[in-house]
Amino acid sequence: TKAEPRERLITDADLASIWVTNPTRRLFGKSGPTKLDIAVYYALVGDFMLPHILGRPVSLVRCPTGKPQDCFFQRHAFSGMPSSVATFQSTNSDGETKSYLSVEGVKGYLALAQFGVVEFHIWGTTAKRLEKADRMVFDLDPGEGVEWREMVEAAVHIKGELEAMGLAPFVKTSGGKGLHITVPVKAKLSWKQLHQRSGGIAAAIAATAPDTFTTNMAKDKRRNRIFVDFHRNARGATAVAPYSLRARTNLPASTPLSWSDLESIDAPEDLNYSSLPGLLTSSGDPWADISDFAREMPPPSNAGA
Ligand code: ATP
Ligand code: MN
Ligand code: MN
Repeated sequence: TKAEPRERLITDADLASIWVTNPTRRLFGKSGPTKLDIAVYYALVGDFMLPHILGRPVSLVRCPTGKPQDCFFQRHAFSGMPSSVATFQSTNSDGETKSYLSVEGVKGYLALAQFGVVEFHIWGTTAKRLEKADRMVFDLDPGEGVEWREMVEAAVHIKGELEAMGLAPFVKTSGGKGLHITVPVKAKLSWKQLHQRSGGIAAAIAATAPDTFTTNMAKDKRRNRIFVDFHRNARGATAVAPYSLRARTNLPASTPLSWSDLESIDAPEDLNYSSLPGLLTSSGDPWADISDFAREMPPPSNAGA
């Protein structure tokens, strides 16, 4: 049976009208996917991906030439940007006011995919309610010597710790070697509070298995350990969006997984632009109900925050 998304957003007319300049231009080598392949990928996963990015500030990785060394990270409005992409003004910690981007509908999303955007990165809040976060993210980064199986076991361990705090964690691959644990929370804390509290939680979790985890960013502290990176929870920080591709060979996708499916993944790089649309159509979005699981953040503990 075919798994249906929560809501059908991409129409047949949208699919029929996909148009890109230089459709046959290949990314990342002679046998890499074309610009058209990427636009088609985003159209095919749109019903599943859009609920996770709509209304959120978005940063983009663009690769205009198809060479990895020419890819760049774009946080602000840019010339030639499709007019269906929304913008809003925000002042950063240096006091600079700049124009940021958000995707507010199907049109803006498809326009970006057809424009040549390869990666979508999002804030853990919406543009309309910018100063209160509704997603807490733990970015698990394997140090040298850490194998995929250990990443999976570590993520499951962290799941248990977070659930014991009354939270509802969701997991996705990063599209690289890591995993991201995303926790929906009631939008009550300021960025400063969220960053502090998430640091306290990361420290408390690391203390349960100090040989496995570190919250220390220093590279030499990370060898054979997993860095629990909570700095995605600072104001203006981003994490790659659910279902976003990554700008590297074969375009792996940051793939939401159910906790039980996580255990059966051996090669996360096989979840990519060509395989994922089919898998998703048969299995659906394991994160479909994520917003229904927003919980209160646990109170700060003396040990951590
Ligand atoms: P992995 O760790 O598995 O390789 P990742 O997406 O978690 O994948 P990290 O290096 O851990 O990668 O996180 C980097 C984060 O910084 C990304 O989530 C992204 O949102 C953000 N980022 C990436 N590139 C830039 C950039 N050029 N400038 C600013 N922020 C960036
Ligand atoms: Mn990471
Ligand atoms: Mn990181």
